[in-house]
Amino acid sequence: MTTQTAKTKTHILGYPRIGSQRELKFAQEKYWRGEIGQQELKEVGSLLRHRHWGEQVGAGLDYVSVGDFAWYDHVLGTSMLLGHIPKRHDNGFPDLDTLFRVARGRAPTGCACAASDMTKWFNTNYHYIVPEFTADDQFNVSWQQLFEEVTEAKQAGHQVKPVLLGPVSYLWLGKEKEQGFDRLSLLPRLLTAYQKVLAKLAALGVEWVQIDEPVLTLELPKNWVESFRLAYQVLHGSPKLLLTTYFDDITHHLDKIVELNVDGLHVDLSASPEQLEAVVAQLPEQWVLSAGVINGRNVWRADLAKLLGILEPVKSKLGTRLWLASSCSLLHSPMDLELETDLNPEVRQWLAFAKQKCREISLLGQALDGCEASRSECIHYSAPIKARVNSAFVNNPDVRQRTLAISPIFAERKAPYSERARLQRSALDLPLLPTTTIGSFPQTDEIRVQRRDFKAGRLVEADYNTALKGHITDAIKRQEALDLDVLVHGEAERNDMVEYFAELLEGFAVTRFGWVQSYGSRCVKPAVIVSDIYRAKPMTVEWATYAQSLTDKLVKGMLTGPVTILGWTFPREDLTREEIANQIALALRDEVADLQAAGIKVIQIDEPAIREGLPLKASQWQAYLDWAVNAFKIAAASADPETQIHTHMCYSEFNDIIESVAALDADVITIETSRSDMELLKAFEEFDYPNEIGPGVYDIHSPNIPEVEHIEKLVEKAESLISVERLWINPDCGLKTRNWEETEAALKNLVTAAKQLRERY
Ligand code: GLN
Ligand code: ZN
Repeated sequence: MTTQTAKTKTHILGYPRIGSQRELKFAQEKYWRGEIGQQELKEVGSLLRHRHWGEQVGAGLDYVSVGDFAWYDHVLGTSMLLGHIPKRHDNGFPDLDTLFRVARGRAPTGCACAASDMTKWFNTNYHYIVPEFTADDQFNVSWQQLFEEVTEAKQAGHQVKPVLLGPVSYLWLGKEKEQGFDRLSLLPRLLTAYQKVLAKLAALGVEWVQIDEPVLTLELPKNWVESFRLAYQVLHGSPKLLLTTYFDDITHHLDKIVELNVDGLHVDLSASPEQLEAVVAQLPEQWVLSAGVINGRNVWRADLAKLLGILEPVKSKLGTRLWLASSCSLLHSPMDLELETDLNPEVRQWLAFAKQKCREISLLGQALDGCEASRSECIHYSAPIKARVNSAFVNNPDVRQRTLAISPIFAERKAPYSERARLQRSALDLPLLPTTTIGSFPQTDEIRVQRRDFKAGRLVEADYNTALKGHITDAIKRQEALDLDVLVHGEAERNDMVEYFAELLEGFAVTRFGWVQSYGSRCVKPAVIVSDIYRAKPMTVEWATYAQSLTDKLVKGMLTGPVTILGWTFPREDLTREEIANQIALALRDEVADLQAAGIKVIQIDEPAIREGLPLKASQWQAYLDWAVNAFKIAAASADPETQIHTHMCYSEFNDIIESVAALDADVITIETSRSDMELLKAFEEFDYPNEIGPGVYDIHSPNIPEVEHIEKLVEKAESLISVERLWINPDCGLKTRNWEETEAALKNLVTAAKQLRERY
């Protein structure tokens, strides 16, 4: 290898902002509760930014990212920067409390007013605040946060690369708040504001700006694709623009992209390594290519030796025009592996979190630049992840054999729905419009403390189990008093519907500090799938059968489905998502069989995450849905025809996936519908959805108690779409975030409504 003097520039697209101890979360929540002032809050922000820049520099990266910090969400931060605030929140002086009011509906100062909507950031578990557009919107650069941060970082002596959400993505990710206008028509006005932002950054001495246009990975309408040309004609100049794309490939728009007036392009080579060749071949001569090779949204140590082999020819071709980067912002990755002192050491050496990923990028850059020491360090560093392939801990021949043996009959119930429905009718003896709940009951402080004490070893297992049985007994008594038809045990033993199963199944590692921001101050701590998954012993049977022993009514067993367990964890990268889902499905299939053998006649398999697993490109949806549906069916198919399988999904869009929802062939599906006034059911009606449905009749997110008449009206509306014999009555979702008083009052009205309606039909 020849020594190259041309240094490869290294950077990341963004760093996690919450802090390794979730400092930002705790500071924001304290501020919202009025326990600290704005000054103190801002100091926490500044402290974290300095620490995070320091970590990037310490790792050896050439640039620090600035503008990736956000008080609640970076899309909302962009709205603030552009002075684009929903009119109901705009008092002319946007400040931090304005930002919090848009996000949360309220803030320590000013009056409360409806928050903006929040939705998922592409196919991640991060949620952003949706920009609201009306035809007369103006954009005025007023909020100074970004410029202050740039100054702050420069004063600290850093080489600064600001990060901006690009104008086309900003428009695409928002929504129109009035009819008859197209938000794309706002682009010219918006560009004027962006020009001002860029001019200010240039005046601050910024050379490069990272301008994120992740929507380029989507299959966009033609006029949106065309709009990029205008946008970058207008924005071109100083500072230079690195156009960033991530989460998927962009080759479908590549011909258009290479004609844009920018100075460089970033592509996600972790989500789509295949695009490298086409991108390098078509890269305009003056452009920089930022190769996003280190996965920003998973936790695995990179195989740097392999990446070196892939990048060397690119380096020879591009020289200094090659930059190295994380695939996307590290926002989606936990902060620091060094804190995971409890992890199995074999597993630990396979992982890398945000801080470690910065080091990977920098090391790879040095090796690519010909440094022999770095090159051997790369090889040494990657050795464990290479060795992992043959690890006895990872590979379980029984699991592999069983997954390989999956054939189409594995996914089919023993009888078609019409026959099952008949058998279940006589086996279960349920009234018309049966009532049930979605699974969880209030997670009281008592329950939380007991669970924490048990995990910390302060409460012995026998005492913990006694406590859980007490909560189950309580939940059963209350449900009997309410006269619900199908009861649940209440999920008191579960902290989280996925982590609970991750802890019980073999194949998962659970971290202590692996927090990732979900929205605002909320963080999640996904488990990591590290090896072949299997069930060493029954997981839920004891609780379900205990609950069933307390009552003559039916108790519904409660499981989380394979697609949701997969979707809310960090997956392995050496198996396909389909293979992992099948492993989980087989473990659940055994649990279903055991529940059934233990006398449980109704079993719910929750799949709230099926929809969010959809690929970014609509043309790839069907392939995903096929294996996702199949995994669910594998889990459910050990149920005898008499055993009733329920599933639950909480989202608002069924139209475009209704065929796959029907293909799940669950005997009963409960869905969230109350907020849409049963509109969601139209998709089921139009499709002639054959099985039973429980459209949620009240919103569990609100403390309001639904009135009997209101529930009756909703059910009547549902009945105009779905025949009454196939309807169930239930809340929209689980009740764990509510208290018992609200829960009992609401369910009392729900049961009353059901009884009155039965008289009528
Ligand atoms: N069974 C779960 C519960 O009731 C379902 C939660 C969900 O749909 N997200 O809490
Ligand atoms: Zn739900």
